[in-house]
Amino acid sequence: MKFDSNQIQKLIHLTFAARDDDTIGCDGCSELMVEFAQAELDGREIPDGLKVVRAHIDQCRCCKAEYRALIDGLEEILP
Ligand SMILES: [Zn+2]
Repeated sequence: MKFDSNQIQKLIHLTFAARDDDTIGCDGCSELMVEFAQAELDGREIPDGLKVVRAHIDQCRCCKAEYRALIDGLEEILP
């Protein structure tokens, strides 16, 4: 089976789009998660470097649960 160039373009686009949304994986996410949570709780603007965390949390159920727990914990210790 052969793909024509249109199909190949689409395939490449899909592959890269998926990668753009989630470049850090679960390991990278947990490393940046505390920083991200603090920025969000402070109501600061999320820096570009931390936006990948949001993208990952939106897609990853286990990191989302971890993030919720972290926010709950931080809210308890912060005034
Ligand atoms: Zn994850």
